[in-house]
Amino acid sequence: MSLMLYNDLTREKEKFVPLRERRVSFYSCGPTVYDFFHIGNARPFIVFDVLRRYLEHVGYEVTFVQNFTDIDDKMINRANAEGITVPELAERFIAEYCRDADALGIRRATVAPRATEHMPEIIALISGIVEKGHAYEVKDPSGNGDVYFDVRSYPPYGRLSKQSLDELESGARVEVGEAKKDPLDFALWKAEKPGEPSWDSPWGRGRPGWHIECSAMSSKYLGSTIDIHSGGVDLTFPHHENEIAQTEAATGVPFVRFWLHNGFLLIDKEKMSKSLGNFMTARAAREKYPPLAIRLFMLSAHYRSPINFAPEGLEQAVGGVTRLRNSWADLRYARASRAGEGVDAAAFVEELGKFDASFFEAMDDDFNTAAAVGVLFEVVRLVNTWLRDHPVLPVKFFDAAEEELRKLDDILGVVGVDEAKDADADEIERLIRERVAARKSKDFKRSDEIRDALLARGIVLEDTSTGTKWKRKLQHDAP
Ligand code: AMP
Ligand code: ZN
Repeated sequence: MSLMLYNDLTREKEKFVPLRERRVSFYSCGPTVYDFFHIGNARPFIVFDVLRRYLEHVGYEVTFVQNFTDIDDKMINRANAEGITVPELAERFIAEYCRDADALGIRRATVAPRATEHMPEIIALISGIVEKGHAYEVKDPSGNGDVYFDVRSYPPYGRLSKQSLDELESGARVEVGEAKKDPLDFALWKAEKPGEPSWDSPWGRGRPGWHIECSAMSSKYLGSTIDIHSGGVDLTFPHHENEIAQTEAATGVPFVRFWLHNGFLLIDKEKMSKSLGNFMTARAAREKYPPLAIRLFMLSAHYRSPINFAPEGLEQAVGGVTRLRNSWADLRYARASRAGEGVDAAAFVEELGKFDASFFEAMDDDFNTAAAVGVLFEVVRLVNTWLRDHPVLPVKFFDAAEEELRKLDDILGVVGVDEAKDADADEIERLIRERVAARKSKDFKRSDEIRDALLARGIVLEDTSTGTKWKRKLQHDAP
């Protein structure tokens, strides 16, 4: 089977074939950096990180662009409230975004462009739209101009959100201070207001509207037509609808081939959002729960379904991650302590192969991580059964089991096997041998010293009837 993705443009699962053979162009709408991001925002960051990892895993070269919105009303208001400049605010929360995203195992984007660093591109794009007759300028008394996109000039408008222009017209509003000709129209450029950051443009001083930055930066880094564009379902309208209209009005070619939107993360059946005040920041969440468990929680549902953020779900994920990591630690310990001839591992390898196929089948089906996570637990159950039933196991068993777990975790990032691959494993095992020797010669002071020193590094020892196992503590990494 090959990868099928649910495309919101057609409302169907379609076979994913990138435009440029083995290369995938992928744009994901990023955060507005006026505050810490919340755990609802973390959902798109995590699920589309997994899609990107999957595409890379199956051999595509992915250019993954995720922007930082560093100029808008929220940025200006927050900077004013804090008595700092908008660039200072952006700098601070881009750094905070990176700390949280890194801790959550979200791989860094290939390019992470900022709106304010792309004014020439934004202005050029707007100029092109005006020249083609799809946007118009309205001057304010100071002589600076607003530029609005003329929605009626672009008949396919509404194609993504499946709404007709007339339906949209009845719901559209004109905000105070807006001078647009039609309530459907939206701002590409906003004339300067006193005390706000502004840039020079053909329409006088001003700043871009929100939607235009994604079109400008996507085209700059990925070209006029891109393979995948993603974000939360709330971005479908108006943000993504507007992105399509303005980009296609300028370029005349299709903007995006696959539109992907994640469902909401809910709290008490409501969308988690800053404006409702019902949010938990990702920072607070990862102080309370291990980041691996937060990932597992997010990936245990299909990305398009809503999920409920509740303590029970998170606790369950902590239990799940603990089970996965215990199995990994047991496997490593068993390899060190009881690898030998033993049984034939062929039956194990065969069964593992079946699970492997199921995992890829699940991921190929609109990256159904819920099903893929289920398969990961099946793999762990199989490994545990073999470890329990066979006192001695061949190297082939260990190689196959470890390779499989590494492979699945490279995509999901919920076991944290990478850190276990760390170069310090040999040193830890050497210290454990030293501790065993110290205990034998009744040097309990040295033995305790070693245990404490390892614990301080997050390594937990467990003395069993057959020897000492070690594992890393689940990280509750405080910032
Ligand atoms: P924002 O910074 O508000 O533009 O949001 C960043 C990303 O988070 C966007 O893709 C939003 O669609 C997404 N998002 C916001 N709230 C939620 C939520 N409660 N559940 C899932 N995604 C969300
Ligand atoms: Zn966007």
